[in-house]
Amino acid sequence: MRINARRRSAVASAKRMGIRNLARIALICLTILGSMVPGGTEGRGLEQSGRQATRVAYDAPREQVHREIYDTMRRRRVLERVAAAFNLFRLPRRLTYRLAECSGEPNAWYDPRNRRITLCYELIESIRRVAPSGTSSAGVSREDAIRGPVLQVLFHESSHAVFHMLRVPILGREEDAADQVAALVLLHLGRADARAVVNGSGYFFAALGKREPLDRSAFADAHGLSWQRFYNLACLAYGSDRRRYGDIVERGFLPTERATACEEEYAQIAHAFLALLGPHLRTPPRQGQALRRALARRVPLASPHD
Ligand SMILES: [Zn+2]
Repeated sequence: MRINARRRSAVASAKRMGIRNLARIALICLTILGSMVPGGTEGRGLEQSGRQATRVAYDAPREQVHREIYDTMRRRRVLERVAAAFNLFRLPRRLTYRLAECSGEPNAWYDPRNRRITLCYELIESIRRVAPSGTSSAGVSREDAIRGPVLQVLFHESSHAVFHMLRVPILGREEDAADQVAALVLLHLGRADARAVVNGSGYFFAALGKREPLDRSAFADAHGLSWQRFYNLACLAYGSDRRRYGDIVERGFLPTERATACEEEYAQIAHAFLALLGPHLRTPPRQGQALRRALARRVPLASPHD
């Protein structure tokens, strides 16, 4: 995964009447995601979670600098919680989440050959490095600036896994689709947490965007540019609830020219989620607070020193 993004020019011709319903249905869908919260095993090597459709592995780091990340990730059960959320889908094969050192490369990816998601210590390290020491000028706390992108990355890679294992048809770039599913999940973590995580992810995309060279290779990349990913996320947040996220536009983080169509953009994605992924849910959508319970408990990777 390269931490950047893309923007969809699609402006749905979605019928206004259907938008609210689609949004509500999607929300109900996603709030059950956490219903597979694992029982309580602490990570030692490879372990199973939920209904055994996923498992997690925390590789002990060799680099001392990664030790704190290792301890925090295990203590917070970050991989277990993300795995539990995606255990919602009936996956034909087991999906593994692994935290590992990557020879200095700050990266994360899904490997379809072994159906494994690898999150590198180095990527978390880089996320911590760009996070503000206190609170950013836009009001993003260090904790959210770390927790947000870590969850975004894990949900993004999980989306790749779901697309692959369920053979989900994708129109457009897969990297964009993975971002959209990740955003949809992040937006339904629970009101306060969704806001915090969206802010944190936005902060990270913006931080990358400020230092991203706009050369040919950037445009050739399968991912969009970081600023595009930033605006896509902002647009989906605003489109999901214009009142709750209205300040994104008021404070100038999202141009009004884009904002006017964000409700339709959100509805289009919610519709696609239900049409393409809905049939693969383990249980039919029902009311619940599950995702909130699963992920809303502070999942930050910021240490007490951060
Ligand atoms: Zn990707």
